[in-house]
Amino acid sequence: MKLGFTPTQEAFRRDAAAWLEAQLSGAFSDLRGVTGQMALLERRIEWEQALGRERFSAIGWPEQFGGRDATLGEQVIFAEEYARAGAPGRVGHMGIELAGPTLLAFGTDAQKQRFLLPIARGEEFWCQGYSEPNAGSDLANVRTHAALVDTPTGPRWQVNGQKIWTSLATFAHWAFVVCRTEPGTQGHKGLSYLLVPTQQPGVTIRPIRQMNGEAEFNETFFADALTDADNIVGAPGGGWAVAMGTLAFERGVSTLAQQMSFRNELDRLVAAAKANGAARDPGLRLRLADAYSGLRIMRYSALRMLSQTDGGELSGAAFTYKIYWATWRKKLGELIMDVLGPEGEIARGLPYEWAELQGVFFSSRSDTIYGGTNQIQRNLIAERALGLPREPRG
Ligand SMILES: Cc1cc2nc3c(=O)[nH]c(=O)nc-3n(C[C@H](O)[C@H](O)[C@H](O)COP(=O)(O)OP(=O)(O)OC[C@H]3O[C@@H](n4cnc5c(N)ncnc54)[C@H](O)[C@@H]3O)c2cc1C
Repeated sequence: MKLGFTPTQEAFRRDAAAWLEAQLSGAFSDLRGVTGQMALLERRIEWEQALGRERFSAIGWPEQFGGRDATLGEQVIFAEEYARAGAPGRVGHMGIELAGPTLLAFGTDAQKQRFLLPIARGEEFWCQGYSEPNAGSDLANVRTHAALVDTPTGPRWQVNGQKIWTSLATFAHWAFVVCRTEPGTQGHKGLSYLLVPTQQPGVTIRPIRQMNGEAEFNETFFADALTDADNIVGAPGGGWAVAMGTLAFERGVSTLAQQMSFRNELDRLVAAAKANGAARDPGLRLRLADAYSGLRIMRYSALRMLSQTDGGELSGAAFTYKIYWATWRKKLGELIMDVLGPEGEIARGLPYEWAELQGVFFSSRSDTIYGGTNQIQRNLIAERALGLPREPRG
């Protein structure tokens, strides 16, 4: 087992760190430490484009599509340095982490040529059209449907239905949409994975205001929305395998390096505990030490997973990773509130201007839900890592 990085990888780390530091203390200094999903959106789109120009946006992708052909280890290093530098959350992450890798794995050559470079360059943004009011964990229950119709420009998919919880949709150009294309089918069969332009009359995006004041989420309505016949990934009716592939990206590599931002959050919490005296409370000290231990375990667990992979594939142990980090961070959120005490309940300003640590508490509540809830993760571990019988399905 190899629990570390090579000298070449460490050299890459220094280069990446130097570039990030130069940007975040220079042209993009206003973005250092910005955490909210929608804060300073215009500037963050410029930041995505700067990353794209330097080919730091999607470094694992082939060079021809704007990447650097970086290994999994280098991808983790870059993400670590990104968080260490206090660089802002990626507003392009739906394209970079989900749509792009899905197209690389399942897309046609024409789709890769059409879509990947604009994603890597921060010119086109994406959103994920999976969940519906009655289809979350049970994604195969989606009711959104599509059919090929004749139009003056040739056959096109016509999409109808409603999605919900569509993150970052207000400025997206495209959605990847799981929908039923074979009437009368049920469950996994008969679903397709369509790429649908969102800035058209047939698509209405209605923001959902959250308790932190932001509207990251949206309801997305499709009413005779159109997309070209060849904007389908995989075979018609064979979208389930593609949709699961996307979820594997959501639960896998893209989360491996976020520990550095968790480390930043824990460091801030320890500083707050020292400042307000909570660090002298025996119970809180215990929980702070426990949080630190959990973070170290996460790091070595990630390194172990990486050391078992050469070609970019993650091993079976990866099934435990999502539930581990999500549960850890939810506990961190609760610890934050206990360390802050009554101050944790006071907004900095109106309307609902939360301090950063309070923001961690709120966002940590969602970690055990998106990308598959903790219960769904346990089902995955039971069935796919332990080989237990499949749970009964309705
Ligand atoms: C921050 C955030 C961002 C999101 N962004 C997007 C997005 O961009 N696009 C998108 O499509 N969706 C998005 N979602 C939605 C997310 O995918 C769903 O919330 C998630 O899949 C759970 O679905 P649900 O909310 O319908 O809950 P449900 O599926 O109704 O689950 C309710 C409860 O029942 C449990 N449960 C359900 N089925 C089982 C089972 N078989 N065994 C045991 N327990 C079970 C669940 O674990 C949960 O506790 C986002 C969610 C969050 C929180």
